[in-house]
Amino acid sequence: MQQTLPFELHAGHATEEPAATAPEFVRHPRARRYVVRVRADGTVRVTIPRWGSKREAAAFAEEQRPWIDRHIARLRIQRNRQASEQLSDGQRQTLRARAKRELPLRLLALAESFGLRVSRVTVRNQQSRWGSCSPGGHICLNWRLVAMPDWIRDYVIVHELMHLKQLNHSRKFWKLVAAACPEYQAARAWLREYQQL
Ligand SMILES: [Zn+2]
Repeated sequence: MQQTLPFELHAGHATEEPAATAPEFVRHPRARRYVVRVRADGTVRVTIPRWGSKREAAAFAEEQRPWIDRHIARLRIQRNRQASEQLSDGQRQTLRARAKRELPLRLLALAESFGLRVSRVTVRNQQSRWGSCSPGGHICLNWRLVAMPDWIRDYVIVHELMHLKQLNHSRKFWKLVAAACPEYQAARAWLREYQQL
């Protein structure tokens, strides 16, 4: 069963996240209303109209929090992807070598924690998927996972490991994934977002 990765290659190194900082408040005489902006670096600015107050601006920012958080999450994903597209050949090689060392170790450690046996692990230069698991228990992982945030990498590994028990995407399969990786839905949303950028 495959987890697909639609078009281009992705291999970023930017897994560090922009910090969620307190908003910056700026009074603007010509502003007609409160406005929240998220800048490219993840900082948040709230514009206060002439008639407004900082207290109201803060309350407004708080109301907009879900939108702000979604926007910042999107920026983080975008960064990861941009970094991946700007890799030099040398960086790519280094990262691939690291993937070959690290990904199988991580997979085996997770397999052991779930009491699963994997017949073979291969790290590949897959263009169109994050991972796959064959009926014989041979798991392939995309080397680019080494540059993804740890929890995304772990979700993909757990997904493939659970295929050792259920080689399909049935309800039963997703239950296994949910039990093994409680944040799997957020991880899937992350991957979807990544692919859409
Ligand atoms: Zn699958």
